[in-house]
Amino acid sequence: MSNVLPFLSRSNSEDVAQWLDALESAMPHERIVAFDQLTDEARRNATIAIVANPDPQQLGQLPALRWVQSVWAGVERLLGEYRNDSVAIVRLEDPQLAATMAEAVLAWTLYLHREMPAYAAQQRARHWHQRALRLPHERCVALLGLGNLGRVASRTLRNAGFNVIGWSRTLTTIEGVETFAGDDALNAVLARADIAVCLLPLTEQTRGLLNAKRFALMKPTASLINFGRGAVVNTDDLLDALERNALAHAVLDVFDVEPLPSESVLWTHRSVTVLPHISAPTHKASAAAIVAKNIAEYRASGAMPKAVDRVLGY
Ligand code: NAP
Repeated sequence: MSNVLPFLSRSNSEDVAQWLDALESAMPHERIVAFDQLTDEARRNATIAIVANPDPQQLGQLPALRWVQSVWAGVERLLGEYRNDSVAIVRLEDPQLAATMAEAVLAWTLYLHREMPAYAAQQRARHWHQRALRLPHERCVALLGLGNLGRVASRTLRNAGFNVIGWSRTLTTIEGVETFAGDDALNAVLARADIAVCLLPLTEQTRGLLNAKRFALMKPTASLINFGRGAVVNTDDLLDALERNALAHAVLDVFDVEPLPSESVLWTHRSVTVLPHISAPTHKASAAAIVAKNIAEYRASGAMPKAVDRVLGY
């Protein structure tokens, strides 16, 4: 029975069935069982659990657990809710997810670069006006977060001709990208940005990081894309900056509360583009293949995949 892999999720039954299908296809030699179908023995013996937004109470009912494999890249909710330090949390690190995110970053960078929000407003006003052309290399795109997603996105932007700079907690190097680290450097990076793209995880350090003080450093013609986590941006401060035309536009895919409540002013704000958390959805078959590889390596050698740092929070 040691081979049984519990799958825990608070998602709907259709989504859970799709996950079980994808995981079983990727691991035909494993038995993957939804939490509520587990026998008492399987609960007692499970050493690995696969999770998609799990109920932490259910995780607490698996006493032999050594590691938890999330099928999501962002794990701040799991870290906050499941505080068992003896169990390692492994998040999804999927090259397909990084490619999907890079595509989204390029798409919405081009949307801003080619001034689509302004042309849409002009059309509504029946206003014929040709705005001055700017070439990609004249546009500085600042990537905040240079991890699995940010690194790939930075190369994609670079290949599209943009002038790309990047910021992360520790200094890293990416060919063709000027990189910076540390709090003071963030101010300088934001001051240079025409488009700032947030791909930061939500941690104690990043919560509210993009606030009035930071927006004040940015050019009034600059725009923000937030594809990381909603709470990294102080929404009131962002709205205030947009209202005062101290910032040009914001493309937001992530929010403090999701789904974004219908009464939110963000829905109809002239300078905000709202997306329903779709910049980089997990592709189930691709994620299942990564999970299968991690589990196969663990079964063969006992080596656990790299775990999230609970102190850093990502
Ligand atoms: P990752 O590999 O862990 O990279 C995180 C990056 O953020 C690293 O470069 C890290 O710096 C930097 N960072 C963390 N804390 C920082 C701080 N206090 N100051 C400066 N930089 C900091 O994560 P990832 O796989 O790229 O994913 C990033 C986030 O994207 C996820 O956490 C998730 O919230 C979000 N996401 C969103 C979607 C969507 O559909 N909207 C989809 C997937 C993921 P170091 O390099 O120095 O460690």
